Amino acid sequence: MAQKLVVGNWKLNGSLAANEALIGACGALAGVEMAVCVPFPYLAQAASLLAGVALGAQTVSEFQSGAYTGEVSAEMLAEMGCRYVIVGHSERRALFGEDDAAVGRKAQSVLRAELVPIVCVGESLAEREAGRVMEVVGRQLDAVLASVGVQGLSGVVIAYEPVWAIGTGRAAGADEAQEVHAAIRRWLADHGAPKGIRILYGGSVKADNAATLFAMPDVDGGLIGGASLVAQDFMAICRAAIANGDD
Ligand code: PEP
Repeated sequence: MAQKLVVGNWKLNGSLAANEALIGACGALAGVEMAVCVPFPYLAQAASLLAGVALGAQTVSEFQSGAYTGEVSAEMLAEMGCRYVIVGHSERRALFGEDDAAVGRKAQSVLRAELVPIVCVGESLAEREAGRVMEVVGRQLDAVLASVGVQGLSGVVIAYEPVWAIGTGRAAGADEAQEVHAAIRRWLADHGAPKGIRILYGGSVKADNAATLFAMPDVDGGLIGGASLVAQDFMAICRAAIANGDD
């Protein structure tokens, strides 16, 4: 497997001044691929400031153009310099009604624009306690496969983000994460997907737990929310990815 990938998800945070300071303090490091997914209005600013760190967006329309007020297409994101687009984040699913099928269509729209969808999957606490983790994650992945096909899967990054770990300060244990990542790897193999698809872990990754998580064999990097807004924390997480990378 290649270098690890660490992606910051700024969510609904930022200002021109704050972004400039944050990006200025988060320079590219050798030995890890870094990206930041910023709010739409800041794409141009971030594109002009980032050097060696990829740009991404946090959601996208499933449509290419037309009478869809407020929507932003993958083609527009490509034109703004994005490489990555997060789709199916649990906050989009829970707060904005995005269902599995819509997430699949969004992933397909991102691939259509030759960008890389970061497809978020993960179970709620109730689903975990009911022993339904892979039933839920498998259903979410099935919807993506139905939209993008096996070939499309080769262009996708998967982010396993247990809902109970996002923004709670309670990350999955490294073994818990590894177990699900390995199960996702098996799901991919069982469905004929090519090898080498990256599986990121997301959910309360911090400077002090990143190394343990990244040491797991099937954890190919991280999707980082809160800690990506603090330069020294994000950089420490990126350094942990280098230390636990394969090359
Ligand atoms: C996220 O928003 O994808 C996330 C993982 O958030 P946090 O790191 O804050 O839990």
